[in-house]
Amino acid sequence: MEKETILNVGFDDTDSSKGMCTTFLAYKIVNLLQKQKTEFLDFPRLIRFNPNIPWKTRGNGAVSIKIKTKNPSKIKDQIKNLVAKYSDIKNGANPGLVFFESDSIPSAFINFSNLALWQLINRNNAKRFAKKNNLEIFYQGNGQGLVGAIGAIGYDFHDHTLELLSYRKKPKFGKERKISTQSVKIMQEKTSPNTFNSFDTKRGRVLITPHGPDPVFYGVRGENVDSLIYATKILKSDEKLDGYMIFKSNQGTGDHLKNELNFENMKPYASGKITGIVSNLPKIVKGGHVFFKILSQNHDFWCAVYKPTGISTVASNLIKGDKICVGGGVRKASKHFPRIINIEFLDVIDLQKNISKSNPLCKKCDKKMKSKGQNQGFQCIRCGKKASKKMTIEISRKIKKQLYLPKISAHRHLTRPLQRIGTINKTAKFDKSLSWFCIYRN
Ligand SMILES: [Zn+2]
Repeated sequence: MEKETILNVGFDDTDSSKGMCTTFLAYKIVNLLQKQKTEFLDFPRLIRFNPNIPWKTRGNGAVSIKIKTKNPSKIKDQIKNLVAKYSDIKNGANPGLVFFESDSIPSAFINFSNLALWQLINRNNAKRFAKKNNLEIFYQGNGQGLVGAIGAIGYDFHDHTLELLSYRKKPKFGKERKISTQSVKIMQEKTSPNTFNSFDTKRGRVLITPHGPDPVFYGVRGENVDSLIYATKILKSDEKLDGYMIFKSNQGTGDHLKNELNFENMKPYASGKITGIVSNLPKIVKGGHVFFKILSQNHDFWCAVYKPTGISTVASNLIKGDKICVGGGVRKASKHFPRIINIEFLDVIDLQKNISKSNPLCKKCDKKMKSKGQNQGFQCIRCGKKASKKMTIEISRKIKKQLYLPKISAHRHLTRPLQRIGTINKTAKFDKSLSWFCIYRN
């Protein structure tokens, strides 16, 4: 009897904006391993890392799988070949592939993964990490993909969602995706809240189909396998698909914004949240974008809320003294602005009273009094009644103490949607009998 070992495989950065997709590579790898009756110990894991890194294509996602095998060296060779075959190196992909044989994941891995959620991690750090921890690594291009490959193995779930990704047959790659809009709408009605962000009811737009040349036909995000499979039965399209795979993911968990930003860690491209007091009157610039400052731990931080998020109006109604918590990504300083936080959520914790002062009112005549000159008080020009002070009036606030999220069309993969606020999914346990992988026979 040969000894069985547990093998973790992580890979990242195999795609480019021109085609291919790391999840499709995962689908191909799983297909190959399934044919050899390899035992899977978990769903394939699709981990999204810091989305505010400028050069990352499509959502910064890496994949890892965990399997049990008697022949790890054969499997490693097969996977290496597939990674080489399906990586879009000529269009700028920098694939990284990592093998780690162990059932448990050391804390150093988890720490590395946590940092990659919100920081910019240099590829040399990943190479050093691999050396120090005796990892088997392979990379092409500059090796930036090693960061996600290590991170995907190290990621420690506290909450998760699932995504069912369906793949097209090869002749359809790059062609328009045709799916019945009505069927997506009905699917959402029937499966929500066990699925999320499938259809934008306000704008009548389908959100499950990507628009690029990649092999994904649609992706349905949700909380459990049954709801996702039910969703595929409701969706209607004439296109014959190749198959689907269900990933376990940190999408929809708000993972990248858990980190507390401060003066020290607010490096360019970092993500996180910060609590503070609005310290100036928000400025609305051309295009409807809103800029303001918050004061937190004796430092001022500029914040930007862009019009397409749909929460720029909320930001424009903030006043000095409001207490808020904002989450987002740090943009590099430019000629006109210092470092600035691009806001992805705005949580209003406390609202200042909006007090306005004006000349006092003569109650008898119901008319505003006139000023008699500086420090001379006020007088009614009709009846002569005098008053010494201006009157204060409270203007009602147009915003509430609540969490404001961007509209669905502006959500990122990691954005925690409103329906997931306060919920943690621990139910989607992996079980070999689940239909998490399927090649259609047609
Ligand atoms: Zn009067």
